[in-house]
Amino acid sequence: MSRSHASHKKFNCADVEKLAQRYIDNQLDEEEKRLFDEHLEYCLPCDKKIQFEFKLKEIVKSKAREPLSNNYSSEKIKSFLENLH
Ligand SMILES: [Zn+2]
Repeated sequence: MSRSHASHKKFNCADVEKLAQRYIDNQLDEEEKRLFDEHLEYCLPCDKKIQFEFKLKEIVKSKAREPLSNNYSSEKIKSFLENLH
């Protein structure tokens, strides 16, 4: 990673979207994570989106553990999506 001048960079919504998956998987470096959190603090749509992604990840995880709960999981995902709009 070559970031020669990282004095005061700010993340915009596109940056957040790009790094969302890595944020959720906890793969960002310290500075990226800080900038990410900073953006979420003042950008409600991104904050909601990330919270949704976290919940989705939990659902996917629990779904992998319980293969019989397919219907239940997709219903949950649908209700999360509805809550976002
Ligand atoms: Zn945003």
